[in-house]
Amino acid sequence: MKTLTTDVVIIGAGPVGLFQVFELGLQGLTSVVIDSLPEVGGQCSELYPDKPIYDIPALPNAKASQVIDNLCLQAAPFDPTYLLGERVEDINKLSDVSFSVTTHKNTLIHCRAVIIAAGNGAFSPVKLKLPLIDKFEDKQLFYRINNIEHFKDKNVVVLGGGDAALDWSLSLQKIANSVLLIHRSTKFKAATSSVNEMFALCEQLKMQFLCGQVSDFQQEDNKLTGLTISSKDGIKRRVELDELVIFFGMSPKIGPIENWQLAMHQHQIKVDTQSFQTSVRGIYAVGDINYYPGKRKLILSGFHETALAAFSIAETVLEKDRIPTLYTTTSPVVHQRMGVT
Ligand code: FAD
Repeated sequence: MKTLTTDVVIIGAGPVGLFQVFELGLQGLTSVVIDSLPEVGGQCSELYPDKPIYDIPALPNAKASQVIDNLCLQAAPFDPTYLLGERVEDINKLSDVSFSVTTHKNTLIHCRAVIIAAGNGAFSPVKLKLPLIDKFEDKQLFYRINNIEHFKDKNVVVLGGGDAALDWSLSLQKIANSVLLIHRSTKFKAATSSVNEMFALCEQLKMQFLCGQVSDFQQEDNKLTGLTISSKDGIKRRVELDELVIFFGMSPKIGPIENWQLAMHQHQIKVDTQSFQTSVRGIYAVGDINYYPGKRKLILSGFHETALAAFSIAETVLEKDRIPTLYTTTSPVVHQRMGVT
């Protein structure tokens, strides 16, 4: 079991979780940020990285991915530890200023406060709904490619019609023995240039495309050997494979959060708006996951919430009634914390 110690654990590396690092840093508090996704940015990275956002203060027009890059830059002076690809399963309260947080990979983090910045829940891949096919997961069936070399000289089937399915098909085609892309429609939710490139490669017989849906699978000696594909023309086809890669997108699941004994309002965590503390002392909630009268799920609302949560945690941890407001422009204390000379 990996064990870490920090002042504050932030659950969720979306825009609000990232800005929380900065606000805690201003208070002299360290943080570990945990996200189930392998990259930071939450909804901005996963759902709309290339779309411009127009309502981030002082950034009149910035792509969602740029906003995330900037938030990481802003957090960098405080050197947060990012634990990506790990889902928080449990929070254990040891006292009002002592908690332990555990992830599904058995990482244990000791901290003095916990901030839940979990958005709509942990993102996880949308699975292929076919009874018993999950036994091949991470052996021959993958929802994410970590090491492309694994597919070298193999016969690979890719399912999906979005950017990930197209981009990976094009990359795999360079090293695999064969690549067959299967999508339920000839309409793709991917960059036109990638779709055109895919059809051009099919034309040159360097890969193949089939329009249809998986309706069954075949196995031999506990190995996945093929799929049955049902197409709109009414014909069922059998395709053989060594490896299956599925990109049906990601969906958020509130998951373990609802088991953490926090007062909830319709899948959102109730907080008080003075401190953004939940019904459990020392556990805070900011961003889309929290609820209070008048709540709006906007990034700028989340940013405000992180500042007040950081002040409240600093007051509890330092046992002070009220921490003074220090300006980043003029405070030598803040400059020292930020490493600004
Ligand atoms: P999220 O961005 O949802 O991030 C939460 C993170 O927590 C996720 O990465 C998730 O994987 C992680 N997580 C959850 N549970 C766990 C767990 N148990 N363990 C580990 N990790 C966990 N807002 C605006 O202000 N302006 C806009 O123009 C705008 N446009 C939008 C356009 C679209 C298409 C969409 C979908 C949303 C838009 N929004 C916009 C809303 C905005 O994206 C959200 O308000 C914002 O992302 C919330 O940030 P967050 O950090 O609270 O949560």
